[in-house]
Amino acid sequence: MKGERKTLSRLILKPGREKSLKRRHPWVFSGAVSKFTGTPEAGDTVEVHSADGEFLAVAACNPQSQIVARVWDWKRREIDADFLRGRIERALALRAHLLPTSDAVRIAHAESDGMPGVVIDRYGEIVVLQLSSAGAMRWRDAIVDAIEAVVRPKTIFERSDSDVLALEGIAPSVGLLRGAPPPGQVLVNEAGAMFEVDVPHGHKTGFYLDQRDNRLRLRELAAKREVLDCFAYTGGFTVNALAGGAAAVTALDSSGPALELLKRNVALNKLPEAACIEGDVFQLLRKLRDQARSFDLIVLDPPKFAPTAAHAEKAARAYKDINLLAFKLLKAGGLLFTFSCSGGVPRDLFQKIVAGAALDAGVEAQIVEQLSAGADHPVALNFPEGEYLKGLICRVAAALP
Ligand code: SAH
Repeated sequence: MKGERKTLSRLILKPGREKSLKRRHPWVFSGAVSKFTGTPEAGDTVEVHSADGEFLAVAACNPQSQIVARVWDWKRREIDADFLRGRIERALALRAHLLPTSDAVRIAHAESDGMPGVVIDRYGEIVVLQLSSAGAMRWRDAIVDAIEAVVRPKTIFERSDSDVLALEGIAPSVGLLRGAPPPGQVLVNEAGAMFEVDVPHGHKTGFYLDQRDNRLRLRELAAKREVLDCFAYTGGFTVNALAGGAAAVTALDSSGPALELLKRNVALNKLPEAACIEGDVFQLLRKLRDQARSFDLIVLDPPKFAPTAAHAEKAARAYKDINLLAFKLLKAGGLLFTFSCSGGVPRDLFQKIVAGAALDAGVEAQIVEQLSAGADHPVALNFPEGEYLKGLICRVAAALP
């Protein structure tokens, strides 16, 4: 409550463990904690202090999580409804001059916008809130009030059901928070391409907003090419390839409902049909290879194989496998749009994996462009984990002699 300033519990670090906080990295891992004063519960605000007693930050704590505290601010200040409203206003202001040509935009990007665990996506008049930390959950009502006051949408819908919730020991929560229920068909316009977004059931908050710029780049490069869209989901890349004048598009995904929505999205844009194949991309790429198929442009946008660095090795094998097969399926001069959205695989490692795949496939390839998420997914400089989406456009030259 405003006015009655509580004495906060303190999280005291082990000696020497203050370094990353001093560089303003916003996470405290459980191994860095010496002790707590008091008995803070998940979601409570605590003060983080060094072993020498130096104040470092105010943070949301979660004693059940590996990430025991996430920093709200580096100054000693009250964390309350006004603070959260200020953060949301700031996130909106930061985007005002870079608003993309779409009515589907990320308004708040968690740690990188100073709001750990808070993602706010906007689909026209509908705002979708995705909370994924105990601190964010604690302030849910205040966050919803602030969205209502600042953004003024028709609907605020909650999709707090990401897989990281289990790591935080938090139960998922999905449903209408404010306003009118979302209409059966939520339509967005992304640079002239229309998409139906499944807000209650779709992946993430319904759509992969982070790939917007990369889909547009594909549209620019797809003319007259035969395109293979792997992990196509609801057709983000497929629709843009067709809109860019691709000769033909084949879309692969293991989800039947996603491919159904892909077909509806293609039809919505009055584009020629894509050939859809439901199945496992790892197997389908082998099948296409055995059938001696070839393509001018291949998109590989797989799900997160390595949520954390602990999964990096297994993920590396999976990335190498699909990239190797894709290089084999590409015609000379063909383009590969290859992505990793794994937080546990940094950009330099991803590039090495792709290089190894090209080598083993016996092709010579160049990186012609580096890709990342759009400007509505900023990366705080002190938080490299925020750069989870990495992409390369590679161009295949002739086969090695
Ligand atoms: N490119 C899409 C997003 C892809 S999300 C866009 O821009 O909108 C990843 C997709 O991969 C999901 O649709 C999921 O159903 C699919 N998927 C996951 N594992 C798969 C596998 N082994 N084979 C085929 N599809 C898979």
